[in-house]
Amino acid sequence: MNNTDTGSTDVQAQETSTHATPGPYRAPPLAPEKVDPAERIERSEEEWQALLSPQQYYVVRQKGTERAFTGEHNDFKAEGTYHCVACGNPLFDSAAKYDSGTGWPSFWAPIQEGRVHTEADNSLGMARTEVLCARCGAHLGHVFGDGPPPTGLRYCMNSIALNFSPAAAEARGTTTGQGENCVAQDGKLIFDFQGQDEAARWVRVNDGVMGGLSQSEMRFTAEGTALFEGTLSLENNGGFASVRTIPDDFALGGYTGLAVRVKGDGRRYMLRLRTDRYLDGPAYESGFDTVPDTWVTVRVPFRDFVPTFRGRRLRNMPAIDGADVRQIGFMLADKQAGPFRLEIDWIKAYEDVS
Ligand SMILES: [Zn+2]
Repeated sequence: MNNTDTGSTDVQAQETSTHATPGPYRAPPLAPEKVDPAERIERSEEEWQALLSPQQYYVVRQKGTERAFTGEHNDFKAEGTYHCVACGNPLFDSAAKYDSGTGWPSFWAPIQEGRVHTEADNSLGMARTEVLCARCGAHLGHVFGDGPPPTGLRYCMNSIALNFSPAAAEARGTTTGQGENCVAQDGKLIFDFQGQDEAARWVRVNDGVMGGLSQSEMRFTAEGTALFEGTLSLENNGGFASVRTIPDDFALGGYTGLAVRVKGDGRRYMLRLRTDRYLDGPAYESGFDTVPDTWVTVRVPFRDFVPTFRGRRLRNMPAIDGADVRQIGFMLADKQAGPFRLEIDWIKAYEDVS
């Protein structure tokens, strides 16, 4: 869904250039490749006080905590990057954001190692671990050990310390004109599961074809998502459940890879592609992890799909070209018997703009 209708750069520019009434400051968001994690910026407390609003200064420089359920990024689900409000350092990706129920925006991992810095914090009679921006030293919040998989960590952040930058804008290097051309900015939409006519384009292929007992179905929900669910069985040398599209030319030439928005159960699934040249030949696959009950966007470049045949990796095969994709599928084969559930919001092809 294209729900990235957050503040535009125009508004931010006005705010930062109007020093008469100190409003919320937002440092220009920096792209990860534009800022060296080892780079430090230093300002005096007087400079920070002049730059930041009183509430921002209280949190990021005086290590205050905003009240729970008051921050703009707490119940906020758009896709993009959260930057340090004081210096623009990219800190967290929305893909690692989850609803912790605490009233503060929570993430299970920073965007990249070295972007945040942690320190022991024994204030207020508690043993906690403080999280700071590694670039400017802004206090961001704390990290706790009760988060979800895959890390088990909960980065509990102050909303006011973060500046959000929507994904579509980052990909194009601009934040203007959102919503005018959804396809061009977000890539090519392949499935959004909004119409029942899409259901006829998916077929189920389980290990029953080889005598296995795994069960699955692909349902289309009233919310406009697809639900791939069932029970994986390892009986009779089985162990896989899958759904795939009927062969079609998706016209993905020139795209960098596939992006899927999924909500899973913590199991590891695979995205699988086939070409018309080898309909019963190689499959190109790439595994992805899911976070229980949390929407995540998975992006896989076509070059990262591994050519396989009957479960074996094929060497010396060229990477799949987007133009040759004729089937798209999801497979579960993680060697764990039991129920599974993967909800899919959409499938897109994306294009890297560099
Ligand atoms: Zn910073």
